[in-house]
Amino acid sequence: MSSVRIDGDRLWDSLMEMAKIGATEKGGVCRLALTDVDKAARDLFVKWCEEAGCEVTIDRMGNIFGRRAGKNPDSPPVMTGSHIDSQPTGGKFDGIYGVLSGLEVIRTLNDAGIETEAPIEVSAWTNEEGSRFAPAMVSSGVFAGVFDLEYGLSRADLDGKTMGEELERIGYAGEAPVGKPVKAFFEAHIEQGPILEDENKTIGVVTDAQGQRWYECTLTGQEAHAGPTPMGTRRDALVGTARVIQAVNEIGLDNAPLACATVGLVQVHPNSRNTIPGKVFFAIDLRHPDDATLSKMDADLRAAVAGAAEDLKLEVALEEIWYSPPVPFDRECVDAVRRAAEANGLSHRDIVSGAGHDACYIARVAPTSMVFIPCEDGISHNEIESATKEDCAAGCQVLLQAMLERAG
Ligand SMILES: [Zn+2]
Repeated sequence: MSSVRIDGDRLWDSLMEMAKIGATEKGGVCRLALTDVDKAARDLFVKWCEEAGCEVTIDRMGNIFGRRAGKNPDSPPVMTGSHIDSQPTGGKFDGIYGVLSGLEVIRTLNDAGIETEAPIEVSAWTNEEGSRFAPAMVSSGVFAGVFDLEYGLSRADLDGKTMGEELERIGYAGEAPVGKPVKAFFEAHIEQGPILEDENKTIGVVTDAQGQRWYECTLTGQEAHAGPTPMGTRRDALVGTARVIQAVNEIGLDNAPLACATVGLVQVHPNSRNTIPGKVFFAIDLRHPDDATLSKMDADLRAAVAGAAEDLKLEVALEEIWYSPPVPFDRECVDAVRRAAEANGLSHRDIVSGAGHDACYIARVAPTSMVFIPCEDGISHNEIESATKEDCAAGCQVLLQAMLERAG
């Protein structure tokens, strides 16, 4: 089986052909979910699936499945896929690389005349980005039972148009029920970070996706004149916030290398140069792939906030607004990816996904893992996002072999 090779030129040509749909001047793409541009890209993908002999099914969330039959029609499929939609200033690889790698796997199996035991399916999940319709990954979420169908179809854009209406309008409101058994799921994706490139590794064997805890915090002290108010009597909410920001950074460093801890939003009130800040609102983002560690980071954060408030005589309102548990991927699927990289003599390392992906939801209903490839300077969600033809081919080859191992 390991002698079967994917066609890297064909994969690259398909990526470049697809990148013309919604192409931007700076070399990226703008393919917001369920727009006319998204429809055009979907139409091309469906045409390619049909040309590859796939049976194409569309479910009620507009998720597309291209199925290559297996010897055992009763077996659930071994599936791969990602998303066609992009950010407004998105790149040519995020999402679509995983979709077209799946198609290339099927084209390769066709050329080699290989019959698998389980069917092979390539999927394209609707509105992964969450840019036009929030939240992100909503349709793989409905597939995995995280959200119900009603909720998914009623998500609205800023003009009030719902996903249900827009699916009807572009002709992708399918009939198939959302959700079905999947034997194993793999998602190939660009890393969207710098680690593989920095370490000169071609393949990221994705073992986990990070858990996240998001908070909003308001510290309240007292506004006062910056001149006449002695230092010892102040209740400066911004000084308290500064201590918390420092503590958050230390929490991240203390739990390195896998932790991330960020304060990225601060609103100071009244934000005047000669008034002591009386109130500060800020947001905190903590991430770690191990739930116990993430809980410890949570406790450390709460202690830091309480300590700063007590020292500076501030009132505190700290609220956790979102908790997304870590996703440990399936050990056998992870091993299949690692073995495939090794069998091809490709340099690899285990890696944790810092971003959300459709695979994070599918992992709740099927054994799942991911294959990462490097992207230039780790940059994604940007029109200059770039990956090499060789790395794209390598990731697709690993995907093929991991899928074959699971499909039999
Ligand atoms: Zn993506």
